[in-house]
Amino acid sequence: MKQYTYIMVKPDGVEAGLVREIEKRIKNAGLEIVEFDVQKLNGEILDEHYAHVKDRDFYPEMKAFMLSNFVVPMIVYGENAVAKMRELMGPTNSNEAPAGTIRGDYGDKEIINRNVIHGADSPENAIIEIERFFKIKLEQPK
Ligand code: ATP
Ligand code: MG
Repeated sequence: MKQYTYIMVKPDGVEAGLVREIEKRIKNAGLEIVEFDVQKLNGEILDEHYAHVKDRDFYPEMKAFMLSNFVVPMIVYGENAVAKMRELMGPTNSNEAPAGTIRGDYGDKEIINRNVIHGADSPENAIIEIERFFKIKLEQPK
């Protein structure tokens, strides 16, 4: 089933010059990048996006990091795009991410929030996040 997902290269990925490399990995996985942007986020949109971790003790430091530089939001489309992207990214903690995954290859092994990339965790959340960051209302293909 083809579907959309929402991807965002975080400030550490942008600063390390990884945008092209990440694009290449997405295309090599058979997925298509249908929208691409460069944005400086504000605290409000970030609190909304990270509502599920907003009350955790690590959030203030993570928020400062996410606001520290540009991010690169993308809409990615293709067969099983949500799961395929989560696979390409590897687990949240880069220390546990295998070599060959984006977080395994480039994530900070000590500071968990510097994990290079965000990917939506479900097709439903992908649609919500695409609307949040691109102001586009999409529907997943039926
Ligand atoms: P993301 O949503 O960024 O794609 P994820 O879905 O793998 O990552 P979530 O559980 O949604 O992980 O957590 C969101 C973000 O919060 C993580 O990417 C990471 O930056 C940060 N985070 C999560 N758990 C921790 C933790 N225990 N310590 C520090 N930071 C954390
Ligand atoms: Mg998440």
